[in-house]
Amino acid sequence: MISLLENQLQRRQKQGNLRQLHCVKNLIDFASNDYLGLARSPDLAFSIKQEWAKYNSFGSTGSRLLTGNSEYVQDLEDKIAHFHGFEAGLIFNCGYMANVGLISSIAGPEDTIFFDTHVHASIHDGMRLGRALLVPFRHNDLISLEARLRNHSKGKCFICVESLYSTDGSKAPLSEIYALSKLYNALLVVDEAHAIGVWGPQGKGLVAQNGLEGQIFAQIVTFGKALGAHGAIVLGNLMLKQGLINFARSFIYSTALPFPVLAAIKCSYDLFPRLEKERSHIKYLIKKFQNIILDASETQIQGVKIKGNAAVKLAAKNLACEGFDVRPLMSPTVRRGHEILRICLHACNTAEQVTTLLEHVKKDQD
Ligand code: PMP
Repeated sequence: MISLLENQLQRRQKQGNLRQLHCVKNLIDFASNDYLGLARSPDLAFSIKQEWAKYNSFGSTGSRLLTGNSEYVQDLEDKIAHFHGFEAGLIFNCGYMANVGLISSIAGPEDTIFFDTHVHASIHDGMRLGRALLVPFRHNDLISLEARLRNHSKGKCFICVESLYSTDGSKAPLSEIYALSKLYNALLVVDEAHAIGVWGPQGKGLVAQNGLEGQIFAQIVTFGKALGAHGAIVLGNLMLKQGLINFARSFIYSTALPFPVLAAIKCSYDLFPRLEKERSHIKYLIKKFQNIILDASETQIQGVKIKGNAAVKLAAKNLACEGFDVRPLMSPTVRRGHEILRICLHACNTAEQVTTLLEHVKKDQD
């Protein structure tokens, strides 16, 4: 008898959306989340090595509640929380675990979570693990959100959004969402995974850009994208931190991050706030992109529509032959018929590279 996995794999193969691992070499990066180029920065690597040499240990030896805690990680959490204008922060092993731990533990069966339909899989998985009433609203649609808040509020209410969506590069209307959260007495949770480092004063993100530092219930910052490191932190008040230490299972039951990763996070925070030149260059590339592609997004994440899994996959393959690393977003990750080539702009890309890339993309669109 054919197993469930075999069955599903065969279906994927037929639909042309089988996921496979690839190693990409020597292509120009228009795909990674390393927006500021920090993951490949010799300066950052050098300072991490120096920081690590002071302590020279690797594994954390246990979960934070057992032997994996240290003054180093606690000081780091306080430093990051204060930088972002929050009372407290709790570091998780990655953004996925932060969202799963946070979202699954903040709301009970009497409560309601309102969420943008485009939020990341980790928020969906956190909601699945929790028992709250789940109410989706249309992507970045304030009318839809308000109608849901008016008609479905039950118990304690939470609104979950990303500040910058990786599916289409759109920014959430954060000020307006915050105003609605106040009006309907809901607590706001904002995932800043793709905004941190690139947007806001000193790269603090869009929560800070909108003047909401320390005002919202929880902000998730991930360290593995523009910050060039790994891990994540949930920022909020002391009660939230205490709650997560007690109830977030992805925090409680996993070995804490190893020391070199903590050192990398620390060194990145010493560096990325100063990278104004890199942030300005990314904004210059966005303008360049907008001048060439009509409905371009206003951020470093761009989606060019190429309908159908086969067509979008072929377009990415053609671009690889021209020397560019660009990845397709296929269904079921996006809705069928809404497939896109996702193009990520980085501080290390040049204007000429963007122009040449888009010349090739336009050929694939025709
Ligand atoms: N949130 C968002 C919006 C993301 O895009 C991602 C990663 N793709 C995560 C959370 C998960 O972060 P990490 O990669 O650190 O697990």
